[in-house]
Amino acid sequence: MKLDGKVALVTGGNRGIGKAMGTTFAEEGAKVVLTARRAAIGEPVAQDLRSAGHDVTFIAADVTDENEVRTLIDSVISRHGALDIVVNNAGIAPASPVESMDTAVWHELIACNVTSMFLVTKHAIPHLRETRGNIINLGSTFGVVGAGGSAAYALTKAAAISFTKSLAIELAADGVRVNALCPGGTDTEFLHEWFEATGDAAGTEDWLIAHHPLGRLGKPEEMAKAALFLASSDSSFVTGHALLVDGGYTAQ
Ligand code: NDP
Repeated sequence: MKLDGKVALVTGGNRGIGKAMGTTFAEEGAKVVLTARRAAIGEPVAQDLRSAGHDVTFIAADVTDENEVRTLIDSVISRHGALDIVVNNAGIAPASPVESMDTAVWHELIACNVTSMFLVTKHAIPHLRETRGNIINLGSTFGVVGAGGSAAYALTKAAAISFTKSLAIELAADGVRVNALCPGGTDTEFLHEWFEATGDAAGTEDWLIAHHPLGRLGKPEEMAKAALFLASSDSSFVTGHALLVDGGYTAQ
C-alpha cells in the first residue's frame, strides 16, 4: 500500500477524475476526504467506498469561499489529526471565444480554477509542513499549448502550472513537494459538457480524439495512477514538475 495511513484531501471529489483519485488513494490505504459543492453526488460516492472497507468522508464546500475552505481544513484536522496530501482538482470549463465571452464567466473561471487552488493551499500549508506532505494541482494540456475557443480555461490551467513551480520553490525547504498533473482529454462528464459548450459536440470530440496520437481519450483511472505516483514516496525527488498524461497530445 503506497499511502498507508496518509490523510488525503481531494477537491472536486464527487465525480470524474477527483472521484477516481479518491478511490485509488483509498485503495492504497489513505484516509480520504472528498469535497465538492454537491453533497447529493458526493455522499453516495463516499458511502460506496466506506462499504468497500475504506476510510472515506465527503464534506460539502465551495472552494472559492475562504470561510468554507477554512472550515473544511479544520474539519479534516479535527477528524484525522493531520493532512498529508492535497489535490486541487476542482474546476469548471465553460467554453467561449474571447470576443463573445461574458465577463462574469471569466471571473467565475478564475475563481473556480485558480483562486480555489490558492485558498485551499494557503490554509493547508501549516498542516502539510507538519507532515512534510505534498500538493497536486490539476493543470491540463491546455495549460501547455493554446486552446482556441477556451482561452480563459487554458489561462487558468497555465496558472496552475506556474503556481505549482513557484510554490514548489517556496515550500522545498519545509520538505513539502508540489507538482501538477496535466491530463489530456479524459472521458468524464466534464469533457462531454465542454464538447456541448463548443456548439459542435460530435465534431469537437472527433477533433480531440484525432489530436491524441494514442487515438483515444484518457480514462479517469489513468489520471489517478499518475496522481498516486506524485502523491506517494515513489516521487520523493520530484517537485515543481508538470506531469503530462496526455496520450501524446503535446508531443506533436
Ligand atoms: P468534473 O466536472 O467531473 O469534476 C469537477 C469537480 O469540481 C466536480 O466534482 C465539481 O463538483 C467540482 N467543483 C467545481 N467547482 C467547484 C467549487 N467552486 N467548489 C467545490 N468544488 C467544485 O471534471 P473532471 O473530473 O473532468 O476534471 C477534474 C479536473 O481535471 C479539473 O480541474 C479539470 O480542469 C482537469 N482536467 C480535465 C480534463 C478532462 O478532459 N476531463 C483534461 C484536463 C484537465 P460540484 O459541481 O458538485 O462542486
